[in-house]
Amino acid sequence: MLPNILQVSIFWLVQVSALLVFAVPFRWAFVALWAVSHFLRAVGLTLAFHRYFAHRAFKMNRSARFVWTLIATAAMQKGPLWWAGHHVNHHKFADRDGDPHSPMISGFYYAHIGWFLNDTKYDRVEATNPVIRDFSKVPEIAWLERYFFFPPLALALTLFLTGGWPWLVWGFCLPTMTLAHATFAINTVNHMFGSRRFETLDESRNNPLTAFFAAGEGWHNNHHRYQRAARNGFYWWELDLTWYTIRAMAAVGLAWDVQAVPKRVYEEARAATAQRATRRMPSVVDAMPMLELAEEAE
Ligand SMILES: [Zn+2]
Ligand SMILES: [Zn+2]
Repeated sequence: MLPNILQVSIFWLVQVSALLVFAVPFRWAFVALWAVSHFLRAVGLTLAFHRYFAHRAFKMNRSARFVWTLIATAAMQKGPLWWAGHHVNHHKFADRDGDPHSPMISGFYYAHIGWFLNDTKYDRVEATNPVIRDFSKVPEIAWLERYFFFPPLALALTLFLTGGWPWLVWGFCLPTMTLAHATFAINTVNHMFGSRRFETLDESRNNPLTAFFAAGEGWHNNHHRYQRAARNGFYWWELDLTWYTIRAMAAVGLAWDVQAVPKRVYEEARAATAQRATRRMPSVVDAMPMLELAEEAE
């Protein structure tokens, strides 16, 4: 385990290092490098840490699980058990005392970054936490949990040795920063800005912008309504890169027991939409007195 002060310093150093994009030459190929590094690790985080470890939305074999967990750990968001364990606590206490990152409880900065760096109140994942209970004894997962700083370091080194500063900056510094905020925005932006299809007992919202940058996680109100589903975008028009990846894995036999959104949840969504539509439509009867008053005023 690294001392916390060192972790906090490295975090801010990487955040600031994203500014080096202005110091190295620009090429469109570097933008592609940013996109691969950002989105591949975004899918890793949401597919492995979120939908697999925290929510058991599907099953995969040990090698596939290791590869995706390794990719996710390279995102520099600490270890898989720490990440998924805290996420379970988020759902358990969603926007109430005990939620490790709620903008309603602790303000925007703390819910976005503060909790991740220095949480004295809720930085604990009990041994009874289902993530710890079921995965802490798997040797390769426990190894990644212990040496969580190794995959990002290896990625940074490989990029630097391959293409020097431009590759390090465009393939590691910038995408690690953008990915940190894409993930953190689910905890903050998605509990403040967006639409609420389902009236859940929390402030979760659906937001297409965060859904794009966080590989499908932005359909967060859907997700709070039904956590177990392998898809967070419940309809074809709700972009969910991680869901397409899980579906592709299932098509070739790499994923199975993929949890669907139950019919009753879709019916609930339909009913809520219909109810909102009638509420918004002003009826002629409602409009009549207003018309009469307007005529009188003339
Ligand atoms: Zn949430
Ligand atoms: Zn979740």
